[in-house]
Amino acid sequence: MQGWRIRVRGLVQGVGFRPHVWRIARDEAIAGEVVNDGEGVAITAYGAAGNLERFIDRLVAEAPPLSRIDAIERQAIAPPPVRPDGFGIGRSIPGKVATGVVPDAATCPACKADIDDPANRRFGYAFTNCTHCGPRLSIVRAIPYDRTNTSMQAFPMCHACEAEYGDPADRRFHAQPNACPRCGPRLWIEPVAAADGDDPVAGAAAMLRAGRIVAIKGIGGFHLACDAMNEEAVARLRRRKRRYAKPFAVMFRDIEGLRRHCRAGADEEGWLASHAAPIVLVEGRGLAPSVAPGQDRIGAMLPYTPLHHMLLAACSGPLVMTSGNTSEEPQAIGNDEARQRLAGIADAWLMHDRDIVNRLDDSVVRIDAAGPQVIRRARGLAPEPRPTPAGFASDAAVLAMGGELKAAFCLLGHGRMILSQHMGDLEEASTHADYRRNLDLYRAIFDFHPRRIAVDRHPAYLSTQWGRTFAESEGIPLVAVQHHHAHLAACLGEHGVPRHDDQALGIVLDGLGAGDDGTVWGGEFLAGGYAGFERAGHFRPVPLPGGAAAIREPWRNLAAHLHAVGAGDWQARFARTRAAGAVAPRAVAIVGQLLQRGFNAPLSSSAGRLFDAAAAAIGIVPARQHHEGQAAMEMEALARPHAGRVGGYPVDVARDGPVPVLCFAPLWEALLDDLRRGTEPGVIAARFHDGLADGVAALAVTIASERGLARVALSGGVMQNGLFLDRLVATLAATGIEVLTHRQVPANDGGLAFGQTLVAAAGVD
Ligand code: ZN
Ligand code: ZN
Ligand code: FE
Repeated sequence: MQGWRIRVRGLVQGVGFRPHVWRIARDEAIAGEVVNDGEGVAITAYGAAGNLERFIDRLVAEAPPLSRIDAIERQAIAPPPVRPDGFGIGRSIPGKVATGVVPDAATCPACKADIDDPANRRFGYAFTNCTHCGPRLSIVRAIPYDRTNTSMQAFPMCHACEAEYGDPADRRFHAQPNACPRCGPRLWIEPVAAADGDDPVAGAAAMLRAGRIVAIKGIGGFHLACDAMNEEAVARLRRRKRRYAKPFAVMFRDIEGLRRHCRAGADEEGWLASHAAPIVLVEGRGLAPSVAPGQDRIGAMLPYTPLHHMLLAACSGPLVMTSGNTSEEPQAIGNDEARQRLAGIADAWLMHDRDIVNRLDDSVVRIDAAGPQVIRRARGLAPEPRPTPAGFASDAAVLAMGGELKAAFCLLGHGRMILSQHMGDLEEASTHADYRRNLDLYRAIFDFHPRRIAVDRHPAYLSTQWGRTFAESEGIPLVAVQHHHAHLAACLGEHGVPRHDDQALGIVLDGLGAGDDGTVWGGEFLAGGYAGFERAGHFRPVPLPGGAAAIREPWRNLAAHLHAVGAGDWQARFARTRAAGAVAPRAVAIVGQLLQRGFNAPLSSSAGRLFDAAAAAIGIVPARQHHEGQAAMEMEALARPHAGRVGGYPVDVARDGPVPVLCFAPLWEALLDDLRRGTEPGVIAARFHDGLADGVAALAVTIASERGLARVALSGGVMQNGLFLDRLVATLAATGIEVLTHRQVPANDGGLAFGQTLVAAAGVD
């Protein structure tokens, strides 16, 4: 007999790892014990050498679905004089357990089988779950992650559930949200008149089939649902919700139902069916036109709770499932809150009595040529930690506050980085409370005590102000990180680029971020790494006429770009575009004066505004866009069928200043020629995408070779544009340069905090 002490690190707590160890130990005739502690799972194992080897192999090979093993270490120990009796699951060591909390997980196949089986005691039960699935982060109030610290505290387990919970051989051993129809949460529909007999799911399905709108309580918040095939219903939902442009997500009954309407590849289907069950952007057809106006992609999802499975089975077709809110507010989570805020939108409410403690939007993923890219990191993905890049493992704890839009914060410490869920825009007052509450919760869950705070350099961002106040009250240093530097560091960091070998050329293209020279940046070539950077090139700055108004009104950026081409005759050029008819001549004249005098027109190198300008020129929402990415997203959809076939517009490089600058005068001349010839807007959009991608790639290659950089990192919200990104990556990669793109950490401002932590940590020495 031999003895081993085995240490397992990774996501191994709260995912059924101890019973997994216990079962295999019994199979392999291993004696000893397994416990959770502050570093993960610790195992003491005694047995024959061959059995011990097999034991370790099987621990990895048969690991529970929600676990992630980062490392297994073993150490020989002397076997005790008397052979120990059997294998035990030890109690967690109080005060020493950093259990953390894992992401919420979609219903597993075994639980799905339970609810479909008339002989099972959970037949048709909407709150069925087990160790391998169900709510987690969304129901946690405090640590440790025990039932009493979740919203399941209100539901004492019945004897049958208690027996499952206490039996290591059961799939529900220590499943904190374990419940059954006898003891667990219950479902109902309001108003009662909406019910069909006493089955709330059948009642809701009947209403949905009849074209009504139903609010449905989910995992991380309420959804608003309607029949995705019924144009009248979808259009009514848009009007009532006052959401006029952003695509609605659609939930399909199963993968076969989805294939009838969507073209999804193996990667897309893999993500759809994963535990995270995010919204995946795919090519869709045959749904109501108002589901995704102006788009060639839809956001598809599969059912991820037992309630979804039963509801979708009871409805004949796919359902729109959009967040339960008005316009840009956060989605409702409380029952009373939903009754009030969704009155006037929903015709009925499918509710239950399990509280949603933490608001979590649906995550969003898209697949590009290089693989999956997370665009919104929330339900199912947060708060999964990622290891720090090499060289950061021993850094003191850093808290980064993120930006202003797509707010998320990040904790760095003990060799790991935890990016919070996406919380929405801090311009929205109701997001503030969420942000602060989540920050308190994460600090408690992960027992986190920051020694340094990182913020954006923009002094007016609320996250910057809160970070400053926090740093002052704690008496710890505040590090203000340049916006695009944080984007660059985020991309390096998610690829584990080591601290001692981090030099890269960051190509950071986004909307607007505070620059270091008093202008607004957004089309940036930054040479550097975690600890610092130099601005090595950029898009030629043009004014933002009217400041924030230029974000809402794409035509203003067109005016600015045409004015930059030639101040004398820009109005004649503007008159030839498709924006001209959409804007009052008086407004054009006023903007002309702003441009002439440089008043209320800060200079900006924004790439996002350049896309807006081009979209306006071909008539895509020239007068006003409903959200910052709308014009660019619609232009991408229009360009897709033509891209790569019609040639790109020329872009120039000017070298009259300290660093090379990308200039767009030739692009605009060619685009105006195309307009004059009556070229199709889709072709113009494609030429714009391809020309810009090629121009950016060419300048990047030049800068990289001049500075001896062998690696580029692509970041910023523009990198969510798959058409642009794929071409840029292909062109760069063909030159032999190493290309890093965002995968798990969002390229948009949702990933900002991730980069801020690394910059703040690296700036220390
Ligand atoms: Zn399950
Ligand atoms: Zn029960
Ligand atoms: Fe940004």
